[in-house]
Amino acid sequence: MSDIFAEREKEIRDRVKQFVEEQLNPISLQVELEERIPEEIVDKMRVMKLFGLAIPEEYGGLGLSTVGEILVYEELTKTNACFRSRIGTSNGIGSMGILFDGTEEQKKKYLPRVASGEWTAAFALTEPSAGSDAASISTLAVLEGDHWIINGTKQFITNGDCADFFTTIVVTDEKKRAQGGFTAFIIERDTPGFFVGAPDNKMGMKGSHTTELVFRNCRVPKENVIGGMRMVGQGFKTAMRVLDKGRLTMGACALGASQKLFDMCVAHIKRKAKHWKSGDDLQAAQFVLADMATEIYAARQMLYNSAWARDQGNNVTHEASMVKLFCTEMADRIADRAMDIFEDEGYLKKSQIEMYLRDVRLYRIFEGTSEIQRIVISRDLLRE
Ligand SMILES: Cc1cc2nc3c(=O)[nH]c(=O)nc-3n(C[C@H](O)[C@H](O)[C@H](O)COP(=O)(O)OP(=O)(O)OC[C@H]3O[C@@H](n4cnc5c(N)ncnc54)[C@H](O)[C@@H]3O)c2cc1C
Repeated sequence: MSDIFAEREKEIRDRVKQFVEEQLNPISLQVELEERIPEEIVDKMRVMKLFGLAIPEEYGGLGLSTVGEILVYEELTKTNACFRSRIGTSNGIGSMGILFDGTEEQKKKYLPRVASGEWTAAFALTEPSAGSDAASISTLAVLEGDHWIINGTKQFITNGDCADFFTTIVVTDEKKRAQGGFTAFIIERDTPGFFVGAPDNKMGMKGSHTTELVFRNCRVPKENVIGGMRMVGQGFKTAMRVLDKGRLTMGACALGASQKLFDMCVAHIKRKAKHWKSGDDLQAAQFVLADMATEIYAARQMLYNSAWARDQGNNVTHEASMVKLFCTEMADRIADRAMDIFEDEGYLKKSQIEMYLRDVRLYRIFEGTSEIQRIVISRDLLRE
């Protein structure tokens, strides 16, 4: 399996591992309590080019393969998940639409700024009445001369508080809707008629913020259609391509968090076992660890295999959904078992077990819930 990793990607992964251990872990609890990432840490991420993981070198990024990217995300989620969210949303769903379908001018304008970390990107699809069923969005754009006039509301948009621009999916043809009637736009933060709400008070991911976005007669120049006017009506396809890739990265995040929890459990059991009087206690803990390790092993194989298949040019929609479903549900089980192992200690904030338990729950919700992954997988299986 290790043959699929290029030397350069392993070297980047190792640098990220060191960064996590030396710079991020020591402030993980502080970020959780203060609900913000210190700006000097964001600067260090910029210097390491972490905001350009998936952006090709010609646009200033590191140009990692899918395999390279998931290796990095796996390491980045062995700490407070909001660090990965800040990087991955901008370099992932926030800007991938431009990389996949943008014009050359758009790529040259936005991607180098995202890669350097000068600009932060976000992705806006979800609306108050359209979450899993993305095809039911209602934010509407109407063409008036050289501008589109947009009205509607998006919600739960990660990086809403700090993004400089938003890849936004809106309706441009109410009859065709998801069948050629949605369009992807780049909305810059200072666009007239565009308003960002206050950060939501969430259960977890405390250092990463979601907000509402309101479009009130928002005037967006024609040039801001991703891919230009020839791509009007193609926005649903752009969104689905972005989310397909995102499902593999979500798998990597769930795997990284699971591995970290497992390592914490092993260390905890080794410490505690010295004081256990009965062999039954040890065996109970051994069985839990064995189950955790087995699941992590299975998850890693399916994730690496699917990422590698994507790098070979294969369509991995079906596999990416399996990866997201399995890895994110596994992370939930592992966090729950870690709480069993740590018991009352795990319930304390300082252990950070309770933080992982709250944070990994999100992986089963965004970028497609578990039920939606099951629908994608079974739709493919039953296709004639
Ligand atoms: C912290 C956070 C960050 C987010 N970041 C972003 C972001 O950056 N950009 C963005 O666009 N969105 C974002 N979202 C939104 C997220 O993608 C949606 O919450 C998600 O898609 C689920 O939509 P919903 O909450 O409306 O739930 P619903 O779609 O209303 O679903 C409710 C329940 O019904 C189930 N369900 C729905 N349809 C079916 C079906 N057909 N069959 C069986 N079960 C079904 C779902 O699985 C779920 O359990 C974020 C959400 C959160 C919580």
